[in-house]
Amino acid sequence: MNIKNVPLFFLTIAAVLLSGCESSPTAGSETSPKPEATLQTSLQDLSTSDSKPNLSEQNDATSHQTSENSDTASISATSLNESSASDTLTASAPSDNDSGWALILVNRDSPLPQDYAPKLTELRNFQYVDERIYPDLQKMFDDMREQGMEPLIISSYRSREEQQEIIDEKIDFYLGFGYTSEDAQAQAYREAAPVGCSEHESGLAVDINAEEGDLWTIYDWLARNAWEYGFILRYPEDKEDITGITYEPWHYRYVGRKAAKEIYERGITLEEYLE
Ligand SMILES: [Zn+2]
Repeated sequence: MNIKNVPLFFLTIAAVLLSGCESSPTAGSETSPKPEATLQTSLQDLSTSDSKPNLSEQNDATSHQTSENSDTASISATSLNESSASDTLTASAPSDNDSGWALILVNRDSPLPQDYAPKLTELRNFQYVDERIYPDLQKMFDDMREQGMEPLIISSYRSREEQQEIIDEKIDFYLGFGYTSEDAQAQAYREAAPVGCSEHESGLAVDINAEEGDLWTIYDWLARNAWEYGFILRYPEDKEDITGITYEPWHYRYVGRKAAKEIYERGITLEEYLE
């Protein structure tokens, strides 16, 4: 088969099925072993032992969502008490929200340090996030559910090894279509961020989908309200020249409430905010 004759849309769809968030809202399900599971409504549920897999076992699993940084990343459940501080959105934001950690820039020009190892909180279905964003994330999901939506996290923290796997799968995919090694690599890196350059490696980004119901109801709600919880739509429409990534209505990045408010109100990107 001559690769030049393969319709672009077919390749795109196939590529999307292969991998990570930079391509598609559904792509994350490929990297999520249990897409039906959700962020817990009750924080207490997070600490149940049956939802806490042994990390060393996961390292041998084929799951893309395992944490292979088990030597450096610790998993901890957030205590129930912590959520009470965010019962009302007008309450003062956590004091460390706007310190450097929440504003770290991750893109192709700004890779994470090699030894970056956030402390992770485990959600259900083998999803992990930086423990510092957990209370606001939980509050946002609780409020969405109260309003009748059923949001679902389909991709979250990703280790360097998992990011490399995504790239390798893309390369294999294009090799399978007859690309030369060089062309396959070039195409793979057009679709996936190099290791260290995906925001998912920070533990501060989540891809949100719908477990039930209308997906765009969730996207619209997030676009209007996520800033109140410290999250921003990271890759808006018409900002691709700045972010380097096409519009992703499902990808939300925690930056802290103060920064999120300003970024939302000014209609800017994280890159522009940090300039
Ligand atoms: Zn994403």
